Parts: sequence; C-alpha cells; structure tokens
Amino acid sequence: MAKTTKHRDTEAIHRAEGADPLATPLVTPIYQTSTFLFDNTKQLEDYQAGTSNKDIYSRYGNPTIRAAEQKIAAVEGAESALLLSSGMAAISTALFGLLRAGDELVASAAIYGGTMHLIRDFLEKFGVVVRYEPLDRFQRPAALLTDKTKLVWFETPINPTLRCLDIAAVASACRARGVLTVIDSTFASPINQSPLALGVDLVMHSATKYLNGHSDITAGTLIGSEALIKTLHPARKLLGGMLDPHAAAMVARGIKTLGVRMERHNANGMAVAKFLEAHPAVSRVFYPGLPSHPDYAIAQKQMRGFGGMVTFDVKSGYAGASRFFDRIEVFKRAASLGGVDSIVSLPVLTSQWGYSDDELKAAGVTRGMVRLSVGIEHIDDLIADLDQALS
Ligand SMILES: *Cc1c(COP(=O)(O)O)cnc(C)c1O
Repeated sequence: MAKTTKHRDTEAIHRAEGADPLATPLVTPIYQTSTFLFDNTKQLEDYQAGTSNKDIYSRYGNPTIRAAEQKIAAVEGAESALLLSSGMAAISTALFGLLRAGDELVASAAIYGGTMHLIRDFLEKFGVVVRYEPLDRFQRPAALLTDKTKLVWFETPINPTLRCLDIAAVASACRARGVLTVIDSTFASPINQSPLALGVDLVMHSATKYLNGHSDITAGTLIGSEALIKTLHPARKLLGGMLDPHAAAMVARGIKTLGVRMERHNANGMAVAKFLEAHPAVSRVFYPGLPSHPDYAIAQKQMRGFGGMVTFDVKSGYAGASRFFDRIEVFKRAASLGGVDSIVSLPVLTSQWGYSDDELKAAGVTRGMVRLSVGIEHIDDLIADLDQALS
C-alpha cells in the first residue's frame, strides 16, 4: 500500500513540474510511456474540446517524438514533420492519407520496390488509378498530367543507378495544375538537396538510412507545410505506424551528427567513385557527382553533395561481381544503406531479384552490378579494401 502511494507521489511530481526541477536535461528525455495521466474530468474535457495540448496516448503523440520531429523539420527547412515506424509506414500514411478511389496517381516507374508493391498490391485494390511513367517521360513533366491526376510520386537519386530527376521541373509542372508532389529523398538526405525549396509539397525519407545513420533502428518521416502535415495526422494515428519513443530519441541523436556524417559520406563517396572509374576491372561507375553520369547536369543544379551511394559494373559480369562480393572485407555484405558502416550489395540478389533480362534492362541494372553504401571509415581503408577485392 505504501509502495503504491509512493509511486503515485512520484508521478504527481512529474505532473506538477513537468520534470525534476533540479535536473534540466540537455537531451530530451525518452518518454517511454504508452499513456499519459489526467488529473480530473476538466482536463479530459479540455483535451477533447481541443483547448489543451496535453498528450493522451503515444500512438497519437509523445514529447520525445515531437522533439525529434522538430529537429527533422528544421534540418529539412520545413514547418512541420511526422515520424513513423519505418519508411514504408511514412509512404503508406502519405498515400492512404492523400488519395481516394478514382484519383489518379502518377508514379515514376523507377522507385523503391516497397513503394511499387504497396501501390500495385494495395492502392490499386482501393480504386486509385495508377500510371507508371518511365524516366524519359519525366523529362517533360507537364505531359504526364491529366485532369484526373491528384498526386505525383517520384524519387531522386534513384536506386541503384543514381539516376536523377529535375525536382524543380516536376514540381512547377505539378503546381501549375494543382497536382500534389511527393518525393522520396532518402538517398540525398536533407543535407544534399532541399526539395521543398524547389517547390515539392511533401518530402519523405526512410529515416532508417542517413537520418538515423547508424543502422540500428527503422523509422520514416514525412515533411512539409504545417497545413499539409496536419491533414496526415489522422492517417498516422489510424493506420498505426507511429514511431516508438526510444527509436525517436535515436533519430534525434542522429540528426545532431547528420551534417558532419554527410560531409564524410560525400567525400568518401566521391573518392570511391573516382577510384573505381580509374580501375581496369570496372567497366562503368554510376555516381551523380561524376561528369560521366547521365544526370550530372541535373545533380549539379539541385544537389549540394552527392552522398555515399556508389554503383558500378564489374567487367566480368556476375562472376566478377560475386567474386568481388565474396572477397570484400571492410564493406559488410548487407541490405540497407546510409549508415556509418560501409555496406555492399548486389542488386540482382536484392532489389532486382527475380527480374527477367528485359526488366533488368528497363531498370538499367546489369548482372555484374555492385552497389556500395560508402560509410565514414578512413578513405584509405576503403580504397585498399576495394582494390584487393577487385584484383
Ligand atoms: C529503405 C528505403 C525505403 C523504405 O524504408 P524502410 O525504412 O525500410 O521502411 C524507401 N525508399 C527508399 C529510397 C529506401 O532506400
């Protein structure tokens, strides 16, 4: 009994003071709680009337999550952001929150596989009309739109070829017709490009990647104007893809080093791309910071750095790529990207698994292709590792 009272007293102190008055933490504490206390009927009445900003339940909102969202909005130069339990939760919340049966969605044919499957296997089932458009059609974005088009979903740079779309051109064509634009900006991170400033309505990131940066949680985010983000609150609440407070604290910590990490990813990515381009065992390198990249001009125009994603073709095809894959040591064999640890993957065994030759060709992917997520290790160690694995 005494124990229960003591417990209640402790809670009361937190309610009265908000926090321990003698210890003001530098770092936002992790509010590891599913629910929040109310003192009386009046407080609940105020909550339901919308006249109080108290939290009630962590699926709706939580101070740790809100603090991380404010950091994300700030780094993306936006008014508001939502955090979700994965990139896919962000994507599904955006699409189900913004579209209804009969709306036409124009999607770039070259998008993240999960996004493509969600659109094809779920959204179409609910009566959304979907048109997939190849990259070359996105060069003339006005021609993509009809009177029925509600939303355009695109991605740049694109996995695994790092092809880039002209963000300002897509955004302005859509604005002129009152069409919403959503960009998956995961590969660039908020440090390397600012789609909102170029006229895009909503930015999505898999925060699993660069934003968190340490390959230890999954998270996703949607970023935009206060008004647009507000319309997505019910979708997050009801689809249930809220982020856990502990993971939100990890993302908030990641944001603190995002700028310095990206500087290193950009420098290492460029050095690796140049090294590979000069290597006799490599036939082609895909890196938007190299003049040999087909979208070099677009990348120069809209990106401040080119990131740590580097893809290349091994001259001897799949046999050579698999030999490289089995010999590499510093780069770890794993899916995912954007962390401090360098990672290597073979697109034909991951994102393009099961594709026919024609489908591979359409995606610009070859069987000898290797994708690197270059981390922040010392560049000499990375180059030496690539060199020994290619020799
Ligand atoms: C990883 C990724 C996603 C999906 O994010 P999850 O956090 O895995 O759900 C979406 N888009 C891109 C470009 C990604 O790399």
